[in-house]
Amino acid sequence: MSAPNKQFDPVEVTPLHPDEVARMRDEALGAIAQAGDLEELKQVRLAHLGDRSPLALANKEIGALPPQARKDAGQRVGAARRDVTAVLEERQQVLEAERDERVLVEETVDVTLPWDRRPRGARHPLTTIQERVGDVFVAMGWEIAEGPEAEAEWLNFDALNIGPDHPARTMQDTFFVESEDSGVVLRTHTSPVQARTMLSRKPPIYVICPGRTFRTDELDATHTPVFSQVEGLAVDEGLTMANLKGALDHFASAMFGDGITTRLRPSYFPFTEPSAEMDLQCFVCRGDSVGNPDRPCRTCSSEGWIEWGGCGMVNPRVLVACGVDPDRYTGFAFGMGLERTLMFRHGIEDMHDMVEGDIRFAAAFGMEI
Ligand SMILES: [Zn+2]
Repeated sequence: MSAPNKQFDPVEVTPLHPDEVARMRDEALGAIAQAGDLEELKQVRLAHLGDRSPLALANKEIGALPPQARKDAGQRVGAARRDVTAVLEERQQVLEAERDERVLVEETVDVTLPWDRRPRGARHPLTTIQERVGDVFVAMGWEIAEGPEAEAEWLNFDALNIGPDHPARTMQDTFFVESEDSGVVLRTHTSPVQARTMLSRKPPIYVICPGRTFRTDELDATHTPVFSQVEGLAVDEGLTMANLKGALDHFASAMFGDGITTRLRPSYFPFTEPSAEMDLQCFVCRGDSVGNPDRPCRTCSSEGWIEWGGCGMVNPRVLVACGVDPDRYTGFAFGMGLERTLMFRHGIEDMHDMVEGDIRFAAAFGMEI
């Protein structure tokens, strides 16, 4: 800072002169008072207390003084630095308190303000009902089985006793992949998952197969080319129609309320024998509207029953095709459309609502249906 002081006179060492030290101190105190925020105060600290600050540099001059002068100068500079440090710490606390208060005000959340965030999506009621069906059966010890949507024609038809001449195989019903003889179709039902399950494991088998299926229908109020099914399959020793009826009654109660029963009407499907249409007792009027014009029921058209799906005992030919010994095992199967289930369960009248993806429709069902 300065040349060696020949006379060791602190007065001649300019930075250590009492006036000069006082000036440095006052300058620092002034800068501290001027600092408007913590960032500015940080700069002041560097400038006036840092290694290159005037007081620090003055301090370095002290070593060149004779003992007595060194003591005086040391006390003077030390006192000045302590003053500056104390005032700076004080200012630091004041500014921190101000900052904390400001942050509290700025970050205040007014919980009474209107909620302006829009939900990005909602779970589709078809997804939710599918999971609910899964829960009902998993609770009974069944498993959920899945399979591909583009399926081998053999698994979609032949394995299920739907021969080459069956009308369901024609182009009118089925989406064929690439060409009609490619051997690959978009599955027309979830039944190929049943076939896959029987082919890949040994009985006892208790599975449900939910999923999307495809048929060449035009989209209208009651049809859609892409729809959802859930099918159930049980293969075990000694299973009868009574087991099927019991499973369906439990399923119906779980979905529509305690005590709802199912009714079986004789029918025909290639993959079950005997086969039945499965009706559900109307869960709204529970049959009270039948023959009672004073209390009509829109849900069942006052018939007391609602068609829900198809079912039956697995045709032994299907068991054989899928490698199950029909002399030892019997099986039952059932299936229903999930769109149809949703429609009559919630009074939805137009299939368009279910496939158009309007979030308001999905959100109206909430998380639970
Ligand atoms: Zn009814």
